[in-house]
This record gives sequence, structure tokens and C-alpha cells, in this order.
Amino acid sequence: MERTLSIIKPDAVKKNVIGEIISRFEKNGLRIATMKKIRMTKEEAKGFYIVHKDRPFYDSLTDFMSEGPIVVMVLEGESAIAKNREIMGATNPANAAPGTIRKDFAENMERNAVHGSDAPETAAFEIGYFFSALEIL
Ligand code: ADP
Ligand code: MG
Repeated sequence: MERTLSIIKPDAVKKNVIGEIISRFEKNGLRIATMKKIRMTKEEAKGFYIVHKDRPFYDSLTDFMSEGPIVVMVLEGESAIAKNREIMGATNPANAAPGTIRKDFAENMERNAVHGSDAPETAAFEIGYFFSALEIL
């Protein structure tokens, strides 16, 4: 049993495909341990993506992630981190495999529909960024 943080990003929320994205997690055996719809401030987005602070896309990425509402959720299941990354597809939708979320819903490398933790340590940081222990069922 493993937990990972998933975000449905502002581009996908705007497209009204929250349900379609969540159903892909469920169909692949992941469960939603907790979930909420929020809007991050620019500062909150910068804190979430602090590992990317020196990357050239940091400012644009944090503008995008704070431009509208997002859905944040904790997914749980066997190998949830790797399984979620598989369901998501490659960062650049041009390289994403058929049937992945990013292939079907992403617009480009930045506006790519979903976020998923990439390792146990980042999952712990990212889950704690949005949820307290009491909120995770
Ligand atoms: P992933 O989300 O697949 O783990 P990264 O952690 O490398 O990808 O990057 C975080 C996010 O930053 C990406 O999901 C995407 O929204 C954005 N991003 C990454 N690389 C670029 C880029 N070269 N240009 C614009 N945005 C980018
Ligand atoms: Mg990443």
C-alpha cells in the first residue's frame, strides 16, 4: 500500500474533465483517500514547486498553477506512485503513450492536465503540503 499526491491542473479543470480523469485512476485500481478543489495563490504554487525554483519555466509554471481552481487528491494502492505516473503519461504530451491522461487532455509541455509525485519522499512532502493527517481517510 502506497500513497501519492495527484493534482488535476487548471487547464483540465477548465475543460470540465475532472470526472473523466478520476475514473481513470479508479479503473486502474487506485483509490481516492481524500480530495478537495482549491485555488492556489502564486506564492503557494511557488512553495509547491520549490524543487524547480532554478528552472527557466518556474515563473510561468507557477502563474499557470495559480490561474484557476485545481483538484488535489491523495491516491492510494499498490505501487501508487509508479502506477499514477503510468496513467498520467510523459510530461510532454507529444511523447505520451496512447490512452494516457496527458495524451488525451494535455495542451502542451506546461499545460499538461495532471501532476503526480515522482518518489516516496516527494509524495510525503506534497501530501503534507495540502492535507493534514486527520484529512486522509
Ligand atoms: P512531471 O510533472 O512530469 O513530473 P516535471 O517535474 O519535470 O514534470 O515538471 C513539473 C511541471 O513543470 C510539468 O508537469 C510541466 O507542467 C512543467 N514543465 C516541465 N518542463 C517544462 C518545460 N520545458 N516548459 C514548460 N513547462 C514545463
Ligand atoms: Mg515532477
